[in-house]
Amino acid sequence: MEKDSGFLSLVFDNIRENIVVVDAENYMILHANRSFIESYGISLEEIRSKRCYEVTHRIDKPCRDAGEECPVRLAADTGRVAKCLHLHKSKEGGSQTIRLAAYPIREPDGTVRRVVEISEDITEQVTLQEEIRKKSEFLDNILKNSPDAIIGNDTAGNIFLFNASAEGIFGYTAAQAIGRIRASALYPPGGAREVKEYIYSESYGGRGRLLDFETKIVSSTGKSIPIRLSCELLHEGGREIGTIGFFHDISGRLALQNHLAESETKFRTLFETASDAILSVDEDGLILMANRAAKDIFEYPSQQIVGLDVRRLLGSGEDGTWEVLARYASRPESGKYVESTAVSRFGKKIPFHISVSESISGGKRFYTVIMRDVSQIKAYEEDLQVLANTDSLTRLFNRRQLYPIMQNELDRAVRKKIPFSVLLIDIDYFKKFNDTYGHAGGDLLLVGFADKLRSAIRQMDSAFRFGGEEFVVLLPETTDQEARIPAERFRQLIADSRFPMPPEGRPVPVTVSVGIAGFRNGDTLDDVIRHADLAMYAAKSGGRNRVVNYDQLTKPETP
Ligand code: GH3
Ligand code: MG
Ligand code: MG
Repeated sequence: MEKDSGFLSLVFDNIRENIVVVDAENYMILHANRSFIESYGISLEEIRSKRCYEVTHRIDKPCRDAGEECPVRLAADTGRVAKCLHLHKSKEGGSQTIRLAAYPIREPDGTVRRVVEISEDITEQVTLQEEIRKKSEFLDNILKNSPDAIIGNDTAGNIFLFNASAEGIFGYTAAQAIGRIRASALYPPGGAREVKEYIYSESYGGRGRLLDFETKIVSSTGKSIPIRLSCELLHEGGREIGTIGFFHDISGRLALQNHLAESETKFRTLFETASDAILSVDEDGLILMANRAAKDIFEYPSQQIVGLDVRRLLGSGEDGTWEVLARYASRPESGKYVESTAVSRFGKKIPFHISVSESISGGKRFYTVIMRDVSQIKAYEEDLQVLANTDSLTRLFNRRQLYPIMQNELDRAVRKKIPFSVLLIDIDYFKKFNDTYGHAGGDLLLVGFADKLRSAIRQMDSAFRFGGEEFVVLLPETTDQEARIPAERFRQLIADSRFPMPPEGRPVPVTVSVGIAGFRNGDTLDDVIRHADLAMYAAKSGGRNRVVNYDQLTKPETP
């Protein structure tokens, strides 16, 4: 028996687990193996006088009384193996997880007076398990919540991982995908091979991985979806075991990009085809962008206009300077246009309607300048002005023009004492021409007469059709005495002329009566005209084909 117990001790001491034999009545430790003694740091002598809970739990009453499960008690009472986990306080004050198994030792009479308790510190195991559990929970969370589809497949292409986003993007449930479809079925024909080739190549992230590779996948319904893919080869013990892929759906981004490109094209077309010159100008007045019309109008080839100072184009007119326009642009009424002149590369002056509007982009102020070349409109306007001011039949100034032009002369006469005179010319017996040759004949005579008048006067003089067959000639810087000479010369010219009359173009003579009036201090325009008219009538009554100076009417006739 002694021998036996020595042998048993030897066996016990060589078992890694802690083994202790406990008295089932009073929990006194009857025997403990080496592992136990070492674990609790207590000597064999000491241990014989201790109860098990004093050593293991470091408490002073039985486990059961301390609210813990007591496997020794249980094994003794039931006669069966009792197992449980205990949380012990460690020597260092931390906590230890101990797995306990209590084996009842049945005496020959069937009673249980001793129990063998085998315990094992599984703290490390438990911590490790907890860590693994946390890690896998973390991974689960990533897989579940990742907006990217995450798909794992083995080297044969069998899918073993298919997360929620993969379900969303590809349209298969994880159950449908895992172990059932091949990874290659997720790509269009040839797509999987291409991806594989890139994974093994140096491009896109180096050998063994693929980074931000843009390609397409095929969903369960056959829909093609653009994605950005990142892949990594999986290894275990240096052996390649599969691939994990992260699929990011970029259809939204591409749609946005397309939309942007589309509106950019629309804008470009509008910008380039506009007939108005459109410039984008920065805060300092440098041209950032110019459309085709701007290049054409300002005579700059290709892009040479870009980078130019906008002041080079805008004239220096009072309202046309860039500073004034830019200031105007920032006011609420901006967007309206102002009239100004611009200068082309070759110095051509171009009348413009300019509108400037201000914007802020990226914290920087810039201006959009729209310039409409109005040279043609201006030319039309001038033509219209000429038309409005001239008589359509004779092409001489009409009566409306007489007064402002005469007023100019009158002002000069008053201010600078410069004389001027007017001639009032009336065709004699004009009615007879109408009667004999018809109205057209009369018109023809008027046209021919006007031509003669135009050619007879000086550059500084101006001729007006005053009424039907009455004309006024304004002679600046000419006294009424001096006026007699051209008046007489003209009367003679007409008298010597022949005017072809319809229908055969027979040359017909005609005469004129001319009244002269010179401006006198205090005269109004009407006075001057009235005086000339009176003189003209005097010429008529004097026998026609003659010149009378108003001056002669007021002075007593010298014998
Ligand atoms: P006088 O001046 O010598 O006294 O005689 P007259 O025949 O010229 O006199 P009057 O001023 O009475 O006649 C002018 C005529 O000119 C009357 C009008 O019918 C005619 N007349 C006015 N305008 C035009 C026109 O544009 N074309 C033609 N054909 N005739 C016109
Ligand atoms: Mg007449
Ligand atoms: Mg008349």
